[in-house]
Amino acid sequence: MIRFESVTKQYPDGTTAVDDLSFEVAEGELVTLVGPSGCGKTTTMMMVNRLIDPTRGRIVVDGADIAGVDPVRLRRRIGYVIQQTGLFPHRTVLDNTATVPFLTGWKKAEARARAAELLDLVGLDPDVYGPRYPDQLSGGQRQRVGVARALAADPPVLLMDEPFGAVDPVVRERLQKEFLRLQATMHKTVLLVTHDIEEAIRLGDRIAVYGAGRIEQYDTPASVLGAP
Ligand code: ADP
Ligand code: ADP
Repeated sequence: MIRFESVTKQYPDGTTAVDDLSFEVAEGELVTLVGPSGCGKTTTMMMVNRLIDPTRGRIVVDGADIAGVDPVRLRRRIGYVIQQTGLFPHRTVLDNTATVPFLTGWKKAEARARAAELLDLVGLDPDVYGPRYPDQLSGGQRQRVGVARALAADPPVLLMDEPFGAVDPVVRERLQKEFLRLQATMHKTVLLVTHDIEEAIRLGDRIAVYGAGRIEQYDTPASVLGAP
């Protein structure tokens, strides 16, 4: 589904963020990218939906080299969840969630009905939370809205950058469990960035362990745990 072929990304100031990276993610697989801050995880993700482009190498999604795919079309198939959920502060939770279906041509009532379904799916009662504004939610609830909004376009691929990062450990564990339950029915192809090795092991079908600009180990949780 996603294949990196000798991908290098050098920023204009000369920083090599990702160095000759090759790996492959199968359809329906959840791969966690784990490693210390600054080792190239976010850069890797941003290249998948062409927020930035590689300096060298190529990235193939669904059989096509994405260098030739219009970024807007690409992003319709690739949802992106970031830690700062980027919710519109002056729109209700329901409208925030309905925005993408609405913009892609759904009728307003249909988009809102779909948004309500998705809020329910991530564990937020749409009647209670739908009419609220983002600043009337807890951090954990905002992150759920971020996930619901990313799912709204029903993309086959999800990129998640520290999606459960900004909440306390108890809420975090609850969100992780709920997400795993959701993923068991959705079977999305997921790349999930975390700096927490326990989260990487709990969530990942496979784990990409990053060192500076490179993946040092790419294996199942059992093998990563068993490694010396
Ligand atoms: P991570 O997500 O693992 O924390 P990043 O991909 O954000 O790592 O960053 C990888 C490296 O690239 C770091 O050294 C970072 O400072 C550098 N970097 C990230 N974005 C830029 C940028 N826009 N310009 C220059 N260097 C950058
Ligand atoms: P969580 O366990 O999801 O982090 P919290 O313990 O932070 O939740 O919040 C508990 C309840 O308080 C939630 O139902 C949330 O909707 C509500 N709440 C939190 N912050 C606010 C706020 N600023 N305005 C209104 N309600 C809030």
